[in-house]
Amino acid sequence: MEFSGAMEAIKADRLSDIRKLYQQNVVPTYTRFDLALDHGEGSYVWDVAVKRYLDLGGGIAVCSLGHAHPEISDALLEQSRKLLHVSNLYFTKPQAELAQALVRLIGPGRCFFCNSGAEANEGLYKLARKFGHDEGRYEIITADGSFHGRTLAGIAATGQEKVKKGFEPMVAGFRQVPFNDLEAMRAAITPQTAAILIEAIQGESGITPATADYLLGLRKLCDEKNLLLLLDEVQAGHFRTGRFQSWQRILENVPGAAEFSPDAVSMAKSLGGGFPIGAFWVREKYADVLSAGTHATTFGGTPLGCAVALKILEVIERDQLSDRARQQGDFIKAELQRLMRKFPSVLKEVRGAGLMIGLEFRSDAPGFRGAEKVPALQVVDRLHALGILTVPAATAVVRILPALNLSQAEAVEGLHAIEAVVAELAA
Ligand SMILES: *Cc1c(COP(=O)(O)O)cnc(C)c1O
Repeated sequence: MEFSGAMEAIKADRLSDIRKLYQQNVVPTYTRFDLALDHGEGSYVWDVAVKRYLDLGGGIAVCSLGHAHPEISDALLEQSRKLLHVSNLYFTKPQAELAQALVRLIGPGRCFFCNSGAEANEGLYKLARKFGHDEGRYEIITADGSFHGRTLAGIAATGQEKVKKGFEPMVAGFRQVPFNDLEAMRAAITPQTAAILIEAIQGESGITPATADYLLGLRKLCDEKNLLLLLDEVQAGHFRTGRFQSWQRILENVPGAAEFSPDAVSMAKSLGGGFPIGAFWVREKYADVLSAGTHATTFGGTPLGCAVALKILEVIERDQLSDRARQQGDFIKAELQRLMRKFPSVLKEVRGAGLMIGLEFRSDAPGFRGAEKVPALQVVDRLHALGILTVPAATAVVRILPALNLSQAEAVEGLHAIEAVVAELAA
């Protein structure tokens, strides 16, 4: 009986078959789009009916080199023939070299490897708690509209009610204040506060960058009050904005910013380009706060994950994809701003940096009227019909988070489809 059940799963080759297997067997935590994807190449993916889509969502800022990149496949194969996994009870060369590469890119410090963004942030919470422990400090202040992952501490840290609902009581010690409001942050600090955690560009709530003044002000505030400044770069990091981390892009050429450094940074999404790996970096000064035995994970920093992450860094550097992301992003953003001037009744704002762009629609645009779904979902659906994948955020924002090696022709293809949808919505 069990065997025939497995055979049935193997034979599912149409969207309707696959959807049915999900309905019967997968916990229904996601409202999925009606698409079953089968394979990809570069910035294109094909569904099971062999319809082609241009992927401007990149698996939510994950597939930094696109799909089925031959050098990533080779790195995976090559490492898999040597070692997939050994415990963190031992040393391996790929983890040593990946840690060195991240330290060189961020600054003097150390890295800890894990498997996801939520876990990387979990490491930051433990760092902050350990740091403040002897003085009875344990609070971490975060921002409204933030997103830090779906673990119990992650939802307590996240500044969105919808992720917390039904899971109360929340893990203690997290509080939210308005984003980009330094005075609100200052006012929220208590004798129990140990750290401040923000995303330098908020992703899930619709692509909202921190201002340079806010980042510099938080640094000063943390120095004054002896707090850790923690940055969640899970979505915005890894060269997406044209610099390794998004705060480096925001603070570029800003007077007095050259010395800026956070105390710890979480990473995941693009780090493995689709292979699950997360990490946090902590500044040298706090490198031994988490001492032997205080934190661990079975899979963190496996030779396989680290070999892939190293290859991605190598390709990004060799092909100058950071500059490409900046240029392609500037081009897309300028084109979207042109569209906004042409269709002011449909488009409200274009935000972001490099290939992390949020396009905000006006919820009262003529074409949205009478439909049940929120505007963001309506736009994503309309773009699917035209063969384009994007990612919705909040209720009226569409996110563009493509591979860093997106070509100019692909960018133009995406923009044409977006313009067609915007024109439809204006009518
Ligand atoms: C996606 C995301 C996370 C959570 O990462 P997971 O890998 O899904 O656990 C945390 N923070 C930010 C900013 C994210 O975008």
